[in-house]
Amino acid sequence: MKDLFGNNTNQEFETPKKLIGSFQIYRASYHYRLGTEKECCKNCKHICSGEYHGRWYHKCDLQGLSHSESSDIRLRNVCDNFSLVTKEGI
Ligand code: SF4
Repeated sequence: MKDLFGNNTNQEFETPKKLIGSFQIYRASYHYRLGTEKECCKNCKHICSGEYHGRWYHKCDLQGLSHSESSDIRLRNVCDNFSLVTKEGI
C-alpha cells in the first residue's frame, strides 16, 4: 500500500531501543533488592550520604555519583557488593 506521497507503507518498523543507564545496569548486575534490617545499604561501607537544601540524599560510591535522582539509593535495599561497616568504620 502507498501513502499520499507514493511511499511504500508496508515496511516493518523497528521498535526503538530502550536506553538503559549505568545505574540500572549496576542494579541488575548485582541484584539490587530489598534487604534485611542488618544487611542493607544503611549499614554498608559504600554508602555516601549528604544533606542538600534541608534534604538528605544517599548514594553508593560503587554505583557512581551524580547530581541526578537516578543515582539515589534506598537505605533498606541491598546488593551483592554489601560490605558491613565495622565499629572502626572500615
Ligand atoms: S549494599 Fe550495594 S548498593 Fe548499597 S551501598 Fe552497599 S554496595 Fe552500594
